[in-house]
Amino acid sequence: MSDYDVDLFVIGGGSGGVRAARIAAQQGARVMLAEEYRVGGTCVIRGCVPKKLLVYASRFRGEFEDAAGFGWTVPRWSFDWPTLIANKDKEIGRLEAAYTATLQKAGVIIVKTRAVVADAHTVQLANGKRVRTAYILVATGGAPSYGDPIPGVGHAISSNEAFHLPRLPHHVVIQCGGYIAVEFAGIFAGLGSHVTLVYRGENILRGFDDDVRKHVRVDMEKHGIKVITGCKVAAIEQAGPRFAVLFSSDDQHTADCVMFATGRNPNIAKIGLQEAGVEIAKNGGIAVDEYSRSSVPSIYAIGDVTNRVNLTPVAIREGHAFSDTVFGGKPTTVDHINVPTAVFSDPEVGAVGLTEGQARARLAQTDIYRAMFKPLKATLSGRDTTVLLKLVVDGQTDRVVGCHIAGEGAAEMIQIATIAVKMGATKADFDATMALHPTIAEELVTMRTKSASYAREAAE
Ligand SMILES: Cc1cc2nc3c(=O)[nH]c(=O)nc-3n(C[C@H](O)[C@H](O)[C@H](O)COP(=O)(O)OP(=O)(O)OC[C@H]3O[C@@H](n4cnc5c(N)ncnc54)[C@H](O)[C@@H]3O)c2cc1C
Repeated sequence: MSDYDVDLFVIGGGSGGVRAARIAAQQGARVMLAEEYRVGGTCVIRGCVPKKLLVYASRFRGEFEDAAGFGWTVPRWSFDWPTLIANKDKEIGRLEAAYTATLQKAGVIIVKTRAVVADAHTVQLANGKRVRTAYILVATGGAPSYGDPIPGVGHAISSNEAFHLPRLPHHVVIQCGGYIAVEFAGIFAGLGSHVTLVYRGENILRGFDDDVRKHVRVDMEKHGIKVITGCKVAAIEQAGPRFAVLFSSDDQHTADCVMFATGRNPNIAKIGLQEAGVEIAKNGGIAVDEYSRSSVPSIYAIGDVTNRVNLTPVAIREGHAFSDTVFGGKPTTVDHINVPTAVFSDPEVGAVGLTEGQARARLAQTDIYRAMFKPLKATLSGRDTTVLLKLVVDGQTDRVVGCHIAGEGAAEMIQIATIAVKMGATKADFDATMALHPTIAEELVTMRTKSASYAREAAE
């Protein structure tokens, strides 16, 4: 590989790129990484981490409200958005510095610039410099999309800008019903904004289990979030310091902020892929094989730019597997089945495996176990909320093929439940597990009666 300036050039310093670069360097490769914005990428800078910090902030409202039932007198509380944003930015800065230091310690050369593929073994930097490399790893992630163009779309922000608003908006309209839209609806509502969520489909959180979707919507509405489905934003007009938002239903709303969370597109444009002969898959991402190798043998791609499963741990795993394969002498693939996922909404969602709908379409027999109840904490707090736990079981093998939870602690519970689902645990294994009382999670091992789904009960 000595004919080259480096052994590996990584384009993009996000979750996947950082992991791949560090591991390859530790395996002895000469590695250069280009990042055009901030090291850490979407997850650290304007995704998972800052979002979760905002979610934590938003949940204090519920804690303050719930405290009275437990005997606490809480003095009149107030919230200051600039303090939250400044503290969040400080933490993000600390993380970015830590990521940078870790890479440098491993021997990775970081170039803070945009980089594009010039040919199968050459990367072109924005300053005109060209770097010859044995392998190129494209880890450029994705970027927010604004959907179909509508009049005034330029007034809308994406999640990127939501992290840097100068003040908390009084009224926010959020377009779309995916996890980012639903999470920001909970964040803004918890912090004190009036929130209207508008989504053209029939219900929010498409792709999640129908019971969960219904459950989350009902609870969000109980908590004051207005959810309008079968409708979309048709136009946005500046109206003084605010915006007039016209819906496809002809209703008009006035908002201080309009946020579009209408999906994300893989960052494949204008980075020299077509010219180098890199094929694009039907899903809009770079087409790769199970080792993340593109149609050009020296070019690999990982993470959101391949549009497989767009989550941080997946990008990290793919980055690690790439380095093990190419530089570690250990060809490694990534299993994309039974990846757990969470929505940090209010109520929170955790899910793994097949939804009831998917199971019924694929399996000869599907059994459903479902528990819905008022959590113990809500008895004294008086909060109007319920928790939903649901197991989807293959009726022929008894294997638990799906687990879906909506309510407090859902994400933490689903991480652990995923181990059992991944190991192929049966319903009998769940039943043989001793309950831990009093918890919400104990319902996972105490559900004995098969249940019809919400949707079916409602129809009957
Ligand atoms: C609001 C939000 C919340 C999210 N929440 C979660 C969550 O809770 N849990 C979860 O698992 N996932 C979450 N995600 C998804 C997660 O952030 C991504 O799946 C993950 O960051 C993908 O990692 P990546 O390495 O593929 O790309 P990224 O992290 O996006 O990194 C790509 C990097 O490449 C850089 N880049 C792009 N083009 C170039 C170029 N030509 N030259 C140089 N640099 C370039 C970009 O600046 C970026 O830093 C969230 C995403 C968003 C937007």
